[in-house]
Amino acid sequence: MKKIILIGVLPILLFAGPFSAAQEGDPSVLAKMQQINAELAAQGLNIAVEEIRFFTIGGGRPSNRIHQQLFRWVPDDPRRLAQGDDITYLVDQSDGATASGLSNADTEAAIDSALDTWGAEKCLKKVDIVKRPDSGDDPDIFDSFFGFGEFGNPFLADIVNAGWLPREYFEAVGGPGGGSGILAFSVTFIFMNSDGPTDINGDNYNDTALNEVYYNDTFGDPDDDRVGNPWGIDTMLPGVDVETVALHENGHSLELGHFGPPPAAVMNPIYAGINQEPDAIDHAGMCAVWGSWPKP
Ligand SMILES: [Zn+2]
Repeated sequence: MKKIILIGVLPILLFAGPFSAAQEGDPSVLAKMQQINAELAAQGLNIAVEEIRFFTIGGGRPSNRIHQQLFRWVPDDPRRLAQGDDITYLVDQSDGATASGLSNADTEAAIDSALDTWGAEKCLKKVDIVKRPDSGDDPDIFDSFFGFGEFGNPFLADIVNAGWLPREYFEAVGGPGGGSGILAFSVTFIFMNSDGPTDINGDNYNDTALNEVYYNDTFGDPDDDRVGNPWGIDTMLPGVDVETVALHENGHSLELGHFGPPPAAVMNPIYAGINQEPDAIDHAGMCAVWGSWPKP
């Protein structure tokens, strides 16, 4: 699946092909996404899983998206209880400690630092990325479809860093080898109506509903084969740096895709060691996505 690594700068070039119901992805992952969406529709909910992107160590994995049309957050969208033009995030503190020995405070600080880094981007000056406290309520839903949690409240914040979950969850979502190869993944939901995806602000993008980020707790687990790649703080290879992965994952939450390599970028799809500062192509990607955000 090497071709997914060669993604260009402008996503529009990638997806300018003929009409197609589904993008290239892993057929088994896409099938799971469609199954979840059937369940959501059967419950009368107006949201659907749209995209899953895996950040891996070792071999890469395809990105998976249902529709050809890209998606964007909509300012002031009442359906997601938008906080005006802000983008909100929270960190689920109930799953923040790691088997490698990090505390929730350790991982939460690293995630906060990653969001601060994106918030300081020149092209995000119009956007306030605002942290919401963890109320103690379950803030995520995707894990519930695989038996790893309840169906929580999906609108406590726009972006939810949902914590460190067991190897089996990543095997279930990603398929064979996912448990030992996927460091983390981002899953984005969009809004739907009876005709399909919505575009309430007429920007020719489907409307993002919510985004969840999950981290794989098998890395550094003394009882597992990834004990040699422990999650750590400001750690070098063979350790896995929490802030680097959080920066990558929350880049997806802010609607960046995968770039390269080459060039080297935060948004490269395979982990290559500590990188806590966006590279040139990451800056360009953020400007492409957020340059039109309406707030002065
Ligand atoms: Zn990624």
